[in-house]
Amino acid sequence: ATTEIYTLSLHDALPIWQSGGHDEREQTLNQLLVEMDGFTSTDNVILIAATNRPDVLDNALLRPGRFDRQITIDKPDIRGREGILAIHTRNTPLAQDVDISILAKSTPGFSGADLANLVNEAALLAARNSKELITAEDFEQARDKVMMGPERKSLFLSEKQKKLTAYHEAGHVLVAANTDGADPIHKVTIIPRGRSLGLTAYLPIEDRYTQSRQYLLAMITYALGGRVAEELMFNEITTGAANDIERATDLARRMVRQWGMSDRLGPINYGDSHKEVFLGKDYSHVREYSEETAMQIDNEVRTIIMGCMEDAKKILTDKKELLHRLAETLIEKETLNADEITAIIGTTPL
Ligand code: ZN
Repeated sequence: ATTEIYTLSLHDALPIWQSGGHDEREQTLNQLLVEMDGFTSTDNVILIAATNRPDVLDNALLRPGRFDRQITIDKPDIRGREGILAIHTRNTPLAQDVDISILAKSTPGFSGADLANLVNEAALLAARNSKELITAEDFEQARDKVMMGPERKSLFLSEKQKKLTAYHEAGHVLVAANTDGADPIHKVTIIPRGRSLGLTAYLPIEDRYTQSRQYLLAMITYALGGRVAEELMFNEITTGAANDIERATDLARRMVRQWGMSDRLGPINYGDSHKEVFLGKDYSHVREYSEETAMQIDNEVRTIIMGCMEDAKKILTDKKELLHRLAETLIEKETLNADEITAIIGTTPL
């Protein structure tokens, strides 16, 4: 007998489950269960389903005889990425200089969809330049686009804005290069990309599955480097650092609330407010700690942020000369890669 394999994306059903009324959700679920129970044990049918929200699946779906095996698929590691790239480039004409194992190495954190997008963008670039083969350079540019968003060369920046952006980005770079445990900088640019005016991209050295306290502090310090540079150089602060601040705050909160990384509050889970709202749970759920603890959490978050900001300030004050040189070169060249950065600041991050 032949075995039939069906695949199904539970993902598609989820918007209905979440936003639709109770009835719709019940109907979708019941229909699914009825169909699945229609198979007898002698049918050679394998049903595979995928979802990115296993947390909201109804228990009835997960009983033996229905979906009784669960496989968790994380973002691909280097071998996974190489395999995925091999699949997506199967029918793509690649130039001699393209090495898939190097591509896999230089794309940590990319999902399968990101990698598919990378190959697609590289192919588009090659086609736009009437090339018959996709070269390593096409992939390099495509990777920047996937990582940092498309360039918006048409956006006009005034000289002052350009200067401010250059110092902001140079601040990130210099702080990262002088903070133990920070990811190495891959590229820095003041060409507007996506929604931001400038961008500093870092590339993790390896796939990270857990993050150390030191690494998290380094990332917060790095994120604040842009704002600190603006403040030091222009004695004024702009709204340009909003994303940086959001990321720094989010990391600091999670260090205290979820990862037990605050000395004063210890390894206690104080809940994750974002997640609960995201799952549509009750907004006004009962908080399981006192008003006093809430205040301590706020204080600890502030202590972490302010400490990291002091570190960034010290680095940029000590290295003011390099900050000038880096920002001036950026204004002139607009984009600097890792080698060019190293040539200016003389250090490579650990
Ligand atoms: Zn920034």
